[in-house]
Amino acid sequence: MKHLLRKCRFCKIYTLYEKCTNCHNPTVDPHPPKFSLGDKYIRYRIEGKYLNNE
Ligand SMILES: [Zn+2]
Repeated sequence: MKHLLRKCRFCKIYTLYEKCTNCHNPTVDPHPPKFSLGDKYIRYRIEGKYLNNE
């Protein structure tokens, strides 16, 4: 899943565009990908536990 909200590292502003509308540098995804990856694995483990109990 791709986040819509992006951030310019130079202007410290949030934007919806892949390039900053202010300085035209590429913007970055402000959400660290490792968090969403961790959530995904935890979710699989929880769902797996549910299936084993039933
Ligand atoms: Zn900028």
